[in-house]
Amino acid sequence: MTLPALELFNTLSGKIEPLFAADGQTFRFYCCGPTVYDYGHIGNFRTFLHVDVLRRVLKLNDFAVKHVMNVTDVDDKIIRNASAAGLSIAEFSRKFEDAFFEDMTSLGVERPEAIARATENIPDMVALIEKLASEDIAYKGPDGSWYFRIAKFPEYGKLSKKDFEGIEDGARVDVDEYDKDAARDFALWKAVKPGETSWQTSLGEGRPGWHIECSAMAMKFLGDSFDLHAGGEDLMFPHHENEIAQSECASHKPFARHWFHVRFLLVEGRKMSKSEGNFYTLRDLLLKGYRAAAIRFLLLSVPYRHQLNFTFDGLTESTNAIERLRTFHQRIAKGTWQESASAENTVAEAIAAGEAAFLAALANDLNTAEARAAIFDVLRTVNAAADQARLTRVEADATLALLTKFDSIFAVLEDKDAELTKAALAWAEAEGRLAEASPEVLAQYGAGSLTDADIDALIAERTQAKKQRNFARADAIRNELLEKGILLEDSKDGVRWKRK
Ligand code: AMP
Ligand code: ZN
Repeated sequence: MTLPALELFNTLSGKIEPLFAADGQTFRFYCCGPTVYDYGHIGNFRTFLHVDVLRRVLKLNDFAVKHVMNVTDVDDKIIRNASAAGLSIAEFSRKFEDAFFEDMTSLGVERPEAIARATENIPDMVALIEKLASEDIAYKGPDGSWYFRIAKFPEYGKLSKKDFEGIEDGARVDVDEYDKDAARDFALWKAVKPGETSWQTSLGEGRPGWHIECSAMAMKFLGDSFDLHAGGEDLMFPHHENEIAQSECASHKPFARHWFHVRFLLVEGRKMSKSEGNFYTLRDLLLKGYRAAAIRFLLLSVPYRHQLNFTFDGLTESTNAIERLRTFHQRIAKGTWQESASAENTVAEAIAAGEAAFLAALANDLNTAEARAAIFDVLRTVNAAADQARLTRVEADATLALLTKFDSIFAVLEDKDAELTKAALAWAEAEGRLAEASPEVLAQYGAGSLTDADIDALIAERTQAKKQRNFARADAIRNELLEKGILLEDSKDGVRWKRK
């Protein structure tokens, strides 16, 4: 099957454009990574999940990819929180970096080809600022910090489409996140303040600003010009605008060609964020008994260019959806199907049409909602054929091949739920946060919960009790298992069990 050409909205041009690798070989892209001052919330992960879908779709379309992500491991918040926790900046930020990558793995996010830590690339940032200073674009302020002179870059505002007519030359700001309406000369290098981590460099003693980190590391790992730059929608201004200004002034070449921005995850109509206090971390949700795969599926259920409102009903719906997909996958993989070809080819046609719709939806600006709907259409048609015993082996194999393709993007079929919930409990115990786990999760996976062998032994005892007509004991065992979240299903082939 020929794949439909991949097209994606480009914030810079304001249009949907074809995706291509400028060097004809490897698609090179950069995604702004986390600031590791705390656990990430699922709003942050919505952005990284859609970037993961982008990389997976590129790979499905036979692109080689080079994906670079930074880790901001020094900034105002890290300095403040590390000192409150009585830890060094390095110890503190490493703890949250490790937690971030564990969460990314739990959510099925593939690891970028390169991870760039800010603190390990300081000389590259200094060199970039020196280059800008040599052209009088960077200047040292009276406070010893270095600033970017935005009056020198008339294209400032081209990404966020803001008009900065009449920029006041020399008005400065030295915080990283600032007033969205005013263009100011922003800090490239911040002079040391008492008690802060700093580096002794040719610019003086201090630390890099956030914007220069991404410019320096993106160009170091990907070259002056590369294919795509990604991040959440809040980064468009000032962060990405500043990255473009710094990089293009230094290299005199276009920086990223394509800009990809993921819209927010909302809670009751407001951005999910630490400062609003309306956030959930992955760990919060795992401890409440929700599954990582269901969270992944939910966060991908709405295409990246639309905001998504988080609700627990949505999460339950998503849990049911993956359960249906997994049951369907097992059924088709394990069933015995007609060897002879069917007289009509309607099922085979529906599978082929489903595959075409799935690929077309992804190629069309990563429409994850339509891609998912295409698979559920196939599920309904194939289940109906299986119910009527008219599904053929060839059709079953085609269905399995399509599910493999589906899962190369959505990554929800493999069941690692119990393992991930147990890991979350172990973490909560180590952090003294077991009280945050729900009673159901504690009963099912906590201390005193049943191992698979315990369950098998209780089921054998129950079968024996039934044989001896000791129904009271048999019922007591069923209830004990139910309380611990184990469901029994009596069938003619014996007793099957599953964890709720
Ligand atoms: P931070 O660690 O705050 O720098 O954020 C990491 C990434 O998450 C950035 O790309 C942000 O734009 C993104 N982000 C933050 N909040 C949300 C949200 N509510 N929904 C989607 N993305 C977000
Ligand atoms: Zn960045």
